[in-house]
Amino acid sequence: MKEMNGNIDEVTLIDNWQQVNTQMKQACDHADRQADNVMLLAVSKTKPADMIATLAKQGQRDFGENYLQEAIEKITELKAQPVGKSIVWHYIGSIQRNKTRDIAEHFDWVQTVERDIIAKRLNDQRPADLPPLNVLIQLNIDNEDSKSGCLPAQLPELITAIKGYERLQLRGLMIIPAKANTNAFARTKQLFEEVKADCPELDSWDTLSMGMSGDMAEAIENGTTMVRVGTAIFGQRA
Ligand SMILES: *Cc1c(COP(=O)(O)O)cnc(C)c1O
Repeated sequence: MKEMNGNIDEVTLIDNWQQVNTQMKQACDHADRQADNVMLLAVSKTKPADMIATLAKQGQRDFGENYLQEAIEKITELKAQPVGKSIVWHYIGSIQRNKTRDIAEHFDWVQTVERDIIAKRLNDQRPADLPPLNVLIQLNIDNEDSKSGCLPAQLPELITAIKGYERLQLRGLMIIPAKANTNAFARTKQLFEEVKADCPELDSWDTLSMGMSGDMAEAIENGTTMVRVGTAIFGQRA
C-alpha cells in the first residue's frame, strides 16, 4: 500500500470509489431509476494526479476541478499518459472573466456558467479544433444574495443567449443548494423539465447536476442525472 502525499492510500481510494458506486445503485433502485441514468463526477480538487490516474484505470471517466491553475497542471500531466487520454474534464469552480480562455482551452464541460458575458467569452475562445464546450447553467435556486448562480427569473434570457453560441452546447442546470433548504432538488428538477418542455429545439438539454457526498441519495431521489462527489471518494481535503 502506497501513501499518496499524505492522502488516503490506493486501496482505500478504490474501495471508496466502489462504495460510492454501490450507494448510487442502491439509491437508484430505491427511487425506481435506471442506474445508468445517473453519472458520477469524481471531484478531485486539491488531490494529486496519481489519485486521478488510479481511478481512471478503474473506469472512472469524469473528473471535476475547481482551481484553474492546479487543474491545468494535472490535466497536462495526465494527457501525457495513456490512461489520461479518455478523461472528461469538468470545470466546477467560480469563473473569473480573465480566466475564460484557459477554461475554454482545457475543459470538456463547464458547470458554473451564470452570466451571458462569461458564456460569450467561452464561446469566442473555444479552440476551433475542439468540439463545442458542454455548458451547464449554475442556478441560484434559493435566490440568495450571497450565492453565485443565475437567478431563476433570469434563466430564460440566459438560455436564449447561450442557444445562439455555436461553440457551446447547452446541456442543463447545476445547483449547490443552501443547507437550510429541503426542496431545492425537487424545485430544480421541475424547472429543468419545464425548460425541456418549453424548448424542444434544445435537443442537448439532458443534464441535471446536483448532489454531493452528503446528499447524493436525496438528489437521486429527486431526479439528478449527475452527482459531484469529492470527500466520499478522495477523503477529506486539507
Ligand atoms: C467540492 C465540490 C463538490 C464535492 O463536494 P464533497 O462534499 O466533497 O463531495 C461538489 N460540487 C462542487 C461545486 C464543489 O465545489
